[in-house]
Amino acid sequence: MSSFPRLTLRKNKAEALRRFHPWIFSGAIQSGADNLPEGATVEVYSDRGEFLAMGHYGKGSLAVKIFSFAPVSDLNQLWGDKLQTAYALRQQLGLVNNPATNAYRLVNAEADGLPGLIIDWYNGVAVMQAHSVGMYEQRHELVKQLQSLYGSQLKAVYDKSASLLFKQSAQTDEYLLGEPGSGEILENGHRFLVDWQTGQKTGFFLDQRDHRALLARYAQGQKILNTFCYSGGFSVYGLQAGARAVDSVDSSAKAIGWTKDNVALNAPGTTAHQAIDADIFTFLKDCDADYDIIVLDPPAFAKSLSARHQAVMAYKRLNQLAMAKLRPGGLLFTFSCSQVVIPEYFNGAAMAAAIEAGRPVKILHHLTQPADHPISIYHPEGLYLKGLVLRVD
Ligand code: SAH
Repeated sequence: MSSFPRLTLRKNKAEALRRFHPWIFSGAIQSGADNLPEGATVEVYSDRGEFLAMGHYGKGSLAVKIFSFAPVSDLNQLWGDKLQTAYALRQQLGLVNNPATNAYRLVNAEADGLPGLIIDWYNGVAVMQAHSVGMYEQRHELVKQLQSLYGSQLKAVYDKSASLLFKQSAQTDEYLLGEPGSGEILENGHRFLVDWQTGQKTGFFLDQRDHRALLARYAQGQKILNTFCYSGGFSVYGLQAGARAVDSVDSSAKAIGWTKDNVALNAPGTTAHQAIDADIFTFLKDCDADYDIIVLDPPAFAKSLSARHQAVMAYKRLNQLAMAKLRPGGLLFTFSCSQVVIPEYFNGAAMAAAIEAGRPVKILHHLTQPADHPISIYHPEGLYLKGLVLRVD
């Protein structure tokens, strides 16, 4: 029999787990949580003593993240099986050993049955982010499992969890295997330098891959404004697809540097590109109103429910400013990665912006996160990326 601590839920609190929802909030726990260390592996039982699930315990309102709805005797085997399943899905998606695209998300937390864990694959380097201490404690085992999955293709593993999890402690982000510094990836044949150590998230916004390809379909001969450009993903695709001019704007000097490097890597010597270090709200007020395409991909404006209203208002203001800068018939690629701003609210913000801008606007495409960032049907909270392509007349 297992020797994991046992948590018992309150009466009528087992239903969500029976529907495979992978979170338990602290208010649902009747007993067993006192004195549990952060990150402990626990078994969860109903008030009637029925086994429900196993997960990692954490102090705070989201108290348990579930990784199995069946008893597990060998946890290492479980991690190995889950990574194998995640890898098989990326194979099915055509992302493994693809000569044109060698970067993808291997593990997308709850959707891959590993709540609290993100692993992105960058052409031989796995970058890991644990969002729970329980997952963080598995990091060395996960490296072993990645080695058996990828063999000699795996050159390095960089753990980027410590800066998320332990703000006050001496724990730091570190290489768990190898030490290559930064690297280069291919995405749909485009080259990008990725700096996972100092970059945002795991280093590159893999979740915009399909939308960059969609932009390329419209880009030929166009004048494009790529706001919040980060490392220049949309700019590179636009230039390679024959855009007449691309302006990339970001308020981070580092991002502007990466954008310039990536443009130089793909379109050396181009005169069609300008990289501008500026706050976008200021830039949009002053710039010319002659863009054919504008990309708006801001960072999450709301990280919690309490910030949601402010965020929706900010999306509205930003979209309104951008709509005013498109020539008639121009396209707006607009996104929100705030999980709490559900699609209805985001679409509402876009509609309110259109009304304020006083222009006819049509929705051409509804966009969401790509298939290597899947969403468990039992965990709709996994949806975070929403986008619209709007034609503004
Ligand atoms: N579209 C990018 C990812 C955007 S990440 C891609 O495809 O890779 C968000 C970016 O917004 C960051 O680079 C950040 O520096 C920038 N940013 C945040 N606030 C900003 C502001 N007010 N003005 C301009 N850029 C901003």
